[in-house]
Amino acid sequence: MPEIVPFAVPAPAVVAVPVVGTEQLFPVRRVYCVGRNYEEHAKEMGFTGREPPFFFLKPADAVVPVESDQTGVIAYPPLTQNLHHEIELVVAIGKGGANISADDALTHVFGYAVGLDMTRRDLQNDMKKQGRPWCIGKGFDQSAPIGPITSAGDVPHIAEAGIQLAVNGAVRQTSTVSKLIWNVAETIAHLSAAWRLEPGDLIYTGTPEGVAAVVHGDTLHGHVDGLCDLRVRID
Ligand code: MN
Repeated sequence: MPEIVPFAVPAPAVVAVPVVGTEQLFPVRRVYCVGRNYEEHAKEMGFTGREPPFFFLKPADAVVPVESDQTGVIAYPPLTQNLHHEIELVVAIGKGGANISADDALTHVFGYAVGLDMTRRDLQNDMKKQGRPWCIGKGFDQSAPIGPITSAGDVPHIAEAGIQLAVNGAVRQTSTVSKLIWNVAETIAHLSAAWRLEPGDLIYTGTPEGVAAVVHGDTLHGHVDGLCDLRVRID
């Protein structure tokens, strides 16, 4: 028997997202997010014109997996009076690589899911004004709810899928994935030029227009055509 070297403190659990149609789980390694990747959202945030994609990260343990037949619950986070929803298509990476070409990029995709990039907008805006990192606005606990992952082969038309978010039954955000400024393949190409991607990485691809605040008790219902819906209540 090999000697087991104990950890000095309890080792963190791996966050694991259900995979549709299997008993398997997708283990989360890193969470990359793309900023301002739909034109109408860029405009509502005060920007115009195509710029190279830019990225930020959330901690892996900010991910909150939610089963398709359940409503996940997240706590209203501290320090904010302006918690925003951002509905996003999430890409799950199945094969690693660096400097991946856009032509080859989709072979690295394991599957897709519906995600929410929850944002403390007041804190993010403060950090922007001061030229400071966005971490406190974007990377807080429970800031990345996600629904089950569907294998890429089961959603061949994901690039044209409709994407929508309703809050308490009222539609707030609606668009199509085809309006991404940088599509999934291009995003992977840019991202993998900066970081080596590995299996277990998630990419939140950006949100369309219509971001707005949620409050205690709100129920969010995210949808992307072909994927499992994501339901989350703000506690
Ligand atoms: Mn976002």
